[in-house]
Amino acid sequence: MRESIKHLIQLQELDKQLDELERAKGGLPQKVRELEDQLQSKRDELREKQDEFESLQKNKRQLERDIENLQESKKKYEEQLYSVTTNKEYDAVTLEIETAVQNIDTKETELLQLIEREDGLKQEIADLEAVIQKLEADFEQQNAILQEKIAANAKVEAELQAQRQQVVEKIRVQHIKLYEKIRSHKDGLAVVPIIRGACGGCYTNIPPQRSMEVRDGDKLIVCESCGRILFWQEDEASVSVES
Ligand SMILES: [Zn+2]
Repeated sequence: MRESIKHLIQLQELDKQLDELERAKGGLPQKVRELEDQLQSKRDELREKQDEFESLQKNKRQLERDIENLQESKKKYEEQLYSVTTNKEYDAVTLEIETAVQNIDTKETELLQLIEREDGLKQEIADLEAVIQKLEADFEQQNAILQEKIAANAKVEAELQAQRQQVVEKIRVQHIKLYEKIRSHKDGLAVVPIIRGACGGCYTNIPPQRSMEVRDGDKLIVCESCGRILFWQEDEASVSVES
């Protein structure tokens, strides 16, 4: 039985290390995922701006063509003015010229607005590209660390699992079952020492008679308060209560 409790203590130690490995994995994948999401949304944003830039170019070209055509027809009407013979004809052609001038003016204002937006967009695109470049660098770096950690952890984890298997094979099945049951209900802590006459898990006092039984180690004894398996530390006298 003394061996049994010794193996349970070893098992708990290994499980503690495995739990810590699991916890250590926690933060970094989350961070890498967040960077990936950020990168994705910035890339989407960039694509939208680039699309806008492209359609703006198209609109610009169209406006330039329109202005060119309007100027040409204005010129044609101006030439017609020389050949008009009646006042009515003169008025009609003059009206055409005025309309063309107005239209050219409107289109030129639109063109100017587009050019302004184009300058703004160019800046926005350049800023986004810089942000993306920085995010990509961060992502590469964090992901490399993560992959390295995963590889290193996998090795340590495999070693711990192998050791665990060896220890498990030395323990009776019903004791393993009891251990697992307590561990799952008591924050992973199933085997605790008696510290200054109290349970090392819940700090409830253990009656001296029970302490003696634990010390004898003839059978597994659990704390009546928290149900954890108790063990006796040979150097109990020197153990100080953990705060
Ligand atoms: Zn207890």
